[in-house]
Amino acid sequence: MTDTPRQPLTGYALLHDPHFNKGSAFSESERLALGIEGLLPPVPATLQIQIARVTMQLSFLDSDLQKYLILSDLLARNETLYYAVLMSDPATFMPLVYTPTVGEACQKFDHFLRAPRGVYLPITARGRLVELLGNWPEKDVRFIVVTDGERILGLGDLGVGGMGIPMGKLSLYTACAGVPPKLTLPITLDVGTNNESLLNDPLYLGLRHQRVRGAEYVAFIEEFVQAVQQLFPKCCLQWEDFANFNAVTILERYRDKICTYNDDIQGTAAVALAGIFGALRISNEQLTDQRFLFLGAGSAATGIAELISEAITLEGGTIDQGRARNWLFDVNGLMVDSRSDVADFQKPFAHSHAPVSSFVEAIEAIKPTGIIGVSTVPKLFNRPVIEAMARINKRPIIFPFSNPTSRSECTAEEAYKWSGGRAIFASGSPFPPVELDGQRFIPGQGNNVYIFPAMGMAVLATGATRVTQAMFISAAKAVAEQVTNADRASGLIYPPQSHILDASLHTAARIAEHVFDQGLASVPRPENIDEHVRAAAYRPVYSSPV
Ligand code: NAD
Repeated sequence: MTDTPRQPLTGYALLHDPHFNKGSAFSESERLALGIEGLLPPVPATLQIQIARVTMQLSFLDSDLQKYLILSDLLARNETLYYAVLMSDPATFMPLVYTPTVGEACQKFDHFLRAPRGVYLPITARGRLVELLGNWPEKDVRFIVVTDGERILGLGDLGVGGMGIPMGKLSLYTACAGVPPKLTLPITLDVGTNNESLLNDPLYLGLRHQRVRGAEYVAFIEEFVQAVQQLFPKCCLQWEDFANFNAVTILERYRDKICTYNDDIQGTAAVALAGIFGALRISNEQLTDQRFLFLGAGSAATGIAELISEAITLEGGTIDQGRARNWLFDVNGLMVDSRSDVADFQKPFAHSHAPVSSFVEAIEAIKPTGIIGVSTVPKLFNRPVIEAMARINKRPIIFPFSNPTSRSECTAEEAYKWSGGRAIFASGSPFPPVELDGQRFIPGQGNNVYIFPAMGMAVLATGATRVTQAMFISAAKAVAEQVTNADRASGLIYPPQSHILDASLHTAARIAEHVFDQGLASVPRPENIDEHVRAAAYRPVYSSPV
């Protein structure tokens, strides 16, 4: 699957190559053969002992940012141990290497700069992007996560500090689905920043001018895409945390031309759809009978609405019938076709209806079976909203997806309490279990991590030439089918995150099956797809002794 591997170094340099370094785990014979005797404490350790040592170090720290930094340093020193630590307890370590901790790490990126990782492409290097990308030591790159740092999580424009996101996200591709780290590459495109405090900070590491827009930006993106195609023709490109207007247009421009996707739009849509499939397994209803009302009409809302519509077409409806089952409600009320402020990407969901300015009234008018909150505004799923949903539906679907927790449209407790325990609930940020009238509810988290690592693994295992909407629908179904009867009895509609590697490999295999069925693969179809995916997955073990 890969080209000729890089040759391991020997001697002192070996201990500074994170890919080959084993630290204290080099055996006595290895130390002798590799010329590193005396350069390490004398008694060799096992990987298990090393994991225990890192875990203990972390337990002494109060601050998650400090833990993040320790883990970043570990990655720069010993890649295998870093992934062994993460994969030993993903539910604990995911929040430390990605959200929420990565947000603070990006904000403080210029102040806590660590060992360089990935590639920075400044717009000042236009015309030379192939040359810069060619400086990356690996020549077989299969997966790139790229940002321009403009809309980092909910934190806005963080300029080159956004690099924490591709780095963290690629760690999850590996830790959660076994995408081999040497095939991955984090990239930040630096087109300037509009963040005044960064521009005024002497420690800021990026270009000190306002963001470049328009034709110059478009040409820079195009040169970047061409450079990736030229150097890494088998690579899948994942766009991450671009501003809405760029995210949507870039995806539209390239989705049918190269192997690419946008997790903010398509991964979010798939994880929401997985939640809906999970909810329908509880309510025993059909997708084609559902109606959804979104609070918020941005890229998350329209991305989810479009994927639901496409999933409806796979169950016999037309795309227009699918879209007619999805309604948007934004800061100016129900999005109806007579409004003058409807953007092109919202038009498919701006239906013919009288204007409605209150969300509760919209619920009464549209009679949705589910409401999905992607407004970034907390508390808007208030008591009258939940009570209206519970009046209309036996099992109302209530998904407050805005992140972080402080922005959630309601809490799990509110949804369960105000619906008399009938809500089928999932949120963007995690909520603890809820006890209500002697019953214990476990709220699910619609975390994109159920989708994107598995998508990466599936693309890798099949050599997929495109990433299609139908692949995301396959992913959503695969996630939902892993929820057990016991999970569902407590209201859970996603598999537990503690078994994320198994869950992702299952999901990856189902996506891969679809890729082979559709003729989108560039490798021969294996006899057993599950085994093929598992065999391609990275495991954090040291390579055999010399
Ligand atoms: P966005 O800024 O593009 O869209 C926000 C939308 O909400 C806009 O249409 C805006 O008009 C609307 N809005 C704002 N205030 C409102 C109000 N008072 N009433 C009604 N509508 C209002 O943002 P986005 O990228 O679409 O993301 C939205 C939210 O979804 C974010 O909080 C994000 O964290 C969350 N999200 C969650 C996940 C996940 O959990 N898996 C994934 C992606 C996005």
